[in-house]
Amino acid sequence: MPRPIHAVIHSDALRHNMAVVRARAQDANLWAVVKANAYGHGIEHVFEAFRAADGFALLDLQEAERVRQLGWRGPILLLEGVFELRDLELCSRLGLWHVVHNEAQIDMLAAHKTHTPHRVFLKLNSGMNRLGFKPQSYRAAWARLNALPQVEEISLITHFSDADGEQGIARQLAVFQAAVEGLPGERSICNSAATLRFASGDAQARQDWVRGGIALYGSSPDYPSTSSAGWDLQPAMSLRTAIIGMQQLQVGDTVGYGSRFVAPVPMTIGIAACGYADGYPRICDTGTPILVDGVRTRTIGRVSMDMLALDLTPLLAQGRAAGLGSEVTLWGKASAAHGATVLPIDEVAACAQTVGYELMCAVAPRVAMQLE
Ligand code: PLP
Repeated sequence: MPRPIHAVIHSDALRHNMAVVRARAQDANLWAVVKANAYGHGIEHVFEAFRAADGFALLDLQEAERVRQLGWRGPILLLEGVFELRDLELCSRLGLWHVVHNEAQIDMLAAHKTHTPHRVFLKLNSGMNRLGFKPQSYRAAWARLNALPQVEEISLITHFSDADGEQGIARQLAVFQAAVEGLPGERSICNSAATLRFASGDAQARQDWVRGGIALYGSSPDYPSTSSAGWDLQPAMSLRTAIIGMQQLQVGDTVGYGSRFVAPVPMTIGIAACGYADGYPRICDTGTPILVDGVRTRTIGRVSMDMLALDLTPLLAQGRAAGLGSEVTLWGKASAAHGATVLPIDEVAACAQTVGYELMCAVAPRVAMQLE
């Protein structure tokens, strides 16, 4: 028998979330962002659900090849563009669109001997200061690209730094509008947060292509301001395991490394087969929410490499017979047999002082994935 830990990928939730983001994006095209192996869900697992998108956006050529091998003939965008000249050959062969964010990438295009001209997305650094041309050099970069026979179409792209926060998108949107004014080409500016929070009311923000990532996987892009349920998003991944050990504690007994939890009363705890080597954050000390047979309880003590402890008091108080083999849901949804109770990944991430993105991406390769 393998260890009981596994991640269930819910294709109905992926479809549902896609419909939610689509509705907010209105008439804009939708990229399904599937970088980092579809935010840890597995490109192969999300592909069928995300076929309803207008394109796939990702980072590396291997992922692009996988999407083509799955049979996708539509647009694929490389969000960081290419890193060396020979990548351009593969772009031509696979028909990839790619971001251009620096002069070196324009030099590569100029040097590329090809009969298949490229479609590129010229990136504006509108304030995030990560990738892209500053507004003062943007038009010159556009003119350079426009003069190249290797380039057949130039689209315009930027990325927001605060779409999820108080600042919002107004400042960067204004920088973008000024920088691209009068330039032809399709525009792509909104991520999940911008799409959900602003795009439905603001055609300027919505533009031609929105880039939906985290919302498609069911995590709220602006938690805790809005929960995933508040956006009508459903968890696309449930990390589940089982109880493999039980302990009865007396007052004063301690639990786990560092003896950080001391039992204040006699209590029953379970040991679940999930640890930081599975991708569960070690920082999730006592008090992180967790489900046992669909009932919400909490972790106890320090997370080990392969195990963690949890408090069974709430179940026993309900007269539930939790024990060896009971289902444990680290985040996502309990199984239907246990009421499909939801524990949003965002709540666990908050206890780990991080975001849902990081937890999804950190699920370890040793955790088996099942598409449901
Ligand atoms: N566009 C770019 C350039 C990104 O880097 C990302 C992800 O970080 C996205 C879109 C999707 O963002 P989100 O997952 O917040 O929707």
